[in-house]
Amino acid sequence: MLQAPVEGSFVMSEFVSGRHFLNTPGPTNLPERVVQAMSRHTINHRGPEFGAVGREAVSRLKTVFNTQGTIGIFPSSGTGAWESALVNVLAPGDRVLISRTGQFSHLWEQMATRFGLDVIALDTDWRRGADATAMGDVLAEDREHRIKAVLVVHSETSTSCMTDIAAVRAAMNRASHPALLMVDAISSLACAPYEHDAWGVDVTVAGSQKGLMVPPGLSFLAISDKALAAARAGGASRRSYWDWEPLVKSNQTGFFPYTPAITLLYGLNEAIAMLTEEGLPNVFARHDRYAQATRIAAQAWGLELQCADPAAYAPGVTAIRVPDGHSADKLRGVILDRFDMSLGNGLGRIEDKVFRIGHMGDLGVLSLTGALTGVEMGLRAAGIPHKEGGVQAAMRFLAGAN
Ligand code: PLP
Repeated sequence: MLQAPVEGSFVMSEFVSGRHFLNTPGPTNLPERVVQAMSRHTINHRGPEFGAVGREAVSRLKTVFNTQGTIGIFPSSGTGAWESALVNVLAPGDRVLISRTGQFSHLWEQMATRFGLDVIALDTDWRRGADATAMGDVLAEDREHRIKAVLVVHSETSTSCMTDIAAVRAAMNRASHPALLMVDAISSLACAPYEHDAWGVDVTVAGSQKGLMVPPGLSFLAISDKALAAARAGGASRRSYWDWEPLVKSNQTGFFPYTPAITLLYGLNEAIAMLTEEGLPNVFARHDRYAQATRIAAQAWGLELQCADPAAYAPGVTAIRVPDGHSADKLRGVILDRFDMSLGNGLGRIEDKVFRIGHMGDLGVLSLTGALTGVEMGLRAAGIPHKEGGVQAAMRFLAGAN
């Protein structure tokens, strides 16, 4: 009998053999090559070898962000990159526009408020992406251009809804508004196409632990020349650790002004090499296929998706609602206890109402069908009303039989 404390009030009651299934929407599974790449001794981060590691990370990240701009790499979680985005170009009292698409937009908004920014928020029902037209209307009304930045989450990990970033940029252009466009691509980068330069994004923030298949601990920024110029023009918040100025030199030399997370950078370079070998379009198609298979399973179970807009389905995560009167957290607890699989929990106002299946990063077809099998068995074991056959339906789709 193993009594290991695990999340919530659930404890593993008996030994479960085999590998743990990590199906959270980040952190994600590490490819063996990434684990091996990190199994090295640390080196002197100011010595001759390190510059090449840093420069490789910068140039590889440019290929996933699709940018020629400046890259920021910080030893932090994604939340740090949110802060870096805000404090470099915005000062207390500056107005920002944000769409409330889910828990992560909520947390970014909360951070903006804590920094004294004047936040205009557009509500959604947490079942779709941001409404680009509504954002454009607010910008068109802002004739004095008091709004300094527009903040959007590309893939709302809490709801599994995407926002069309090109549409947001088009709405900003239609309103001829000069605000900076800031995008949280934390759970979309390397899962869905992302075009920092072509979409006219000024600041993109990302993290290592999701589509990039690296452990948590690195955050990234892609920064346009316009955003860099705004940061240099001054008037922004006080900042030190998160300051962008040292990044410009750092991008050239590969050295950092502090001790970098050397081991994670080894992993990052290997992970992006793997994504490049597979081909990013193939990586995105794989994520789409797995997301579709997961939705097919949910539909066959007779369960409702949290994302109510088919055009906004996220490729890396699927949030599924449990019927009213039932507990998604209890279901996750049963699945963890009985089948040793971790799923994402419902966050914020949909806590206990949804469970989230992460299908991003390093995942094979059999791992996905295994995860779906764990969910279907869990639904039965937890007494959640559902129809059988979700896994069969997903298997038929994945085998190409329909
Ligand atoms: N934004 C999104 C869309 C996320 O999914 C997350 C984490 O899951 C965050 C921000 C916060 O990132 P972190 O937990 O790495 O600080």
